[in-house]
Amino acid sequence: MPGGNRRQKRKNWRRRFSSSGYRYTFPRKAILEVLTRSVKHLSAEDVYHKVHRDFPRIGLTTVYRTLELLTDMKIIHKFDFGDGRSRYEFADEGESDHHHHLICTECKRVIDYSDFMEEELMFIKHAEKGLSKKFHFKINDHMIQFLGVCDRCRK
Ligand SMILES: [Zn+2]
Ligand SMILES: [Zn+2]
Ligand SMILES: [Zn+2]
Repeated sequence: MPGGNRRQKRKNWRRRFSSSGYRYTFPRKAILEVLTRSVKHLSAEDVYHKVHRDFPRIGLTTVYRTLELLTDMKIIHKFDFGDGRSRYEFADEGESDHHHHLICTECKRVIDYSDFMEEELMFIKHAEKGLSKKFHFKINDHMIQFLGVCDRCRK
């Protein structure tokens, strides 16, 4: 991510906190910084270890609570591998960020991809249309992840 973009993001966070009536506290800021600097898909424990290195006074409970808050605020989103441990990454900010996941249940590697196959896009479009009609439900977004075993683990 280029520096300018990152600075822009920081400014937006401050604004989002104040417009949602939350304070942009030091731990919240520190946790967002960690998420920005890291590779994606961190668990709460991963975030805690990274934050703790620089700021030993920020505890695991604060990390959990902050991640929940950031999820509610839709700054980050939470997803599961099916191992009961949530992972977090920044929420999509527009079409260019949108991606799907291939998750290896052996090594927990997550492959992000956005070079969707045409069949995949067609399928999603049809499924969303059909579901909206069937349930009178307005679909705004989706998260797609496939669980399996990656090439490295299959060797
Ligand atoms: Zn998609
Ligand atoms: Zn693997
Ligand atoms: Zn991802």
